[in-house]
Amino acid sequence: LSDRLSGILDKLTRRGALSEADVSEALREVRRALIEADVALPVVKSFTDKVRTRAVGQEVLKSVTPGQQVVKIVHDQLVEMLGGAGEPIDLNAAAPFAIMMVGLQGSGKTTSTAKIALRLTKNERRKVLMASLDTRRPAAQEQLKVLGEQTGIETLPIVAGQSPVQIASRAMTAARLGGYDIVMLDTAGRTHIDEPLMVEMAEIKAATNPHEILLVADSLTGQDAVNLATSFDERVGITGIVLTRMDGDGRGGAALSMRAVTGKPVKLVGTGEKADALEEFHPARIADRILGMGDIVSLVEKAARELDQEKAAKMAARMQKGNFDLEDLAEQLRQMEKLGGMSGIMGMMPGVGKMKKQLDAANIDDRVIKRQVAIIQSMTPQERRKPDLLKASRKKRIATGSGVDVADVNKLLKMHRQMADMMKQMGKGKGLLGKMMGGM
Ligand code: GDP
Ligand code: MG
Repeated sequence: LSDRLSGILDKLTRRGALSEADVSEALREVRRALIEADVALPVVKSFTDKVRTRAVGQEVLKSVTPGQQVVKIVHDQLVEMLGGAGEPIDLNAAAPFAIMMVGLQGSGKTTSTAKIALRLTKNERRKVLMASLDTRRPAAQEQLKVLGEQTGIETLPIVAGQSPVQIASRAMTAARLGGYDIVMLDTAGRTHIDEPLMVEMAEIKAATNPHEILLVADSLTGQDAVNLATSFDERVGITGIVLTRMDGDGRGGAALSMRAVTGKPVKLVGTGEKADALEEFHPARIADRILGMGDIVSLVEKAARELDQEKAAKMAARMQKGNFDLEDLAEQLRQMEKLGGMSGIMGMMPGVGKMKKQLDAANIDDRVIKRQVAIIQSMTPQERRKPDLLKASRKKRIATGSGVDVADVNKLLKMHRQMADMMKQMGKGKGLLGKMMGGM
């Protein structure tokens, strides 16, 4: 994808910002990549819409191509939609509690049941009991029993002729009596979603009140992923997703589809047939895989850092000469926003307590920053360079343009004056601020 994208976009002359047309063209390729990665069509649409909103108007970094930059935005948006940091299984419940595994036949429920049981035993030191509620497939219960023997995890003794709900209830009782912490309930699947399956899952849920209900899905699931995840979520109510066979060729588009339609996190990823082939979900890795890209992301991140430093150094030089106009202030505010707000930065600096107080007085907090940038954006370039031009009528126009009161405009101008004065003074002295800006 990245090659194709860069190819298209390198032909475009580099402009200051990504235009609607640049982004649209890039997004055609992104759409194709997502569809190739098996992301469901409605999800592709909502995803590209989000990227469009985020990308259009963004400044193109000096050391990367517009294509690479769009890829970076796509990647970031993808990571965000996939769920950012990833979520572990929630073990915060009174023992014994059930973790119920649901999904289609062959998706990897039984294998994942044993993998999770092993992990909870080894890593979390919980006493785990596994029970197979699969009365449909011959030998399904034996399959779990064998896995239990291989991993050293207890399984509920098999009793012929019981219904899934009866087995589930028996498992909960056995867990209470046996002092178990967690009961892993491995349910039966079907080759496709049908009503009896959903009824059975709902009954098991009602009988055991599971703390987690994990939908197990093959990472190769394509357009069906949406239907699969929605059905299970609506009828049974899932708490998370286990994505299996990520060791195969699948690019993991199903993760995005299922997460997008249910909002439920992918909690674990199966990466092989063995009992220890289970990993935490890393959204960034899946994002790379979906996009099929190399190291563009780190390249763009590096460029962004360099650009910030370049800008900061230039600004510091200007400030020391006593030039600090509203354009500089806007840039400054944007940088602060990026670095976690004014209080975050100021808190780290020794010897700037006085300035911090003044800025607090000027009411700069992280939410206010955006509004202040908007005010500056509503000014003409000339006004930004020469704030003295700003008389009542201009202030009124700017306030209207940025959706604030004239008082807010005045506050911003006052803050700018104070900062400019302070910077002039500091510039004369030891150059603390110069250093400070240079380091940003
Ligand atoms: P169930 O019908 O949902 O219980 O599926 P199973 O757990 O019986 O798994 C079906 C097949 O998929 C078995 O051969 C498993 O070994 C295999 N399998 C399950 N998870 C993975 C995985 O993450 N990677 C690979 N390569 N195979 C897996
Ligand atoms: Mg099974």
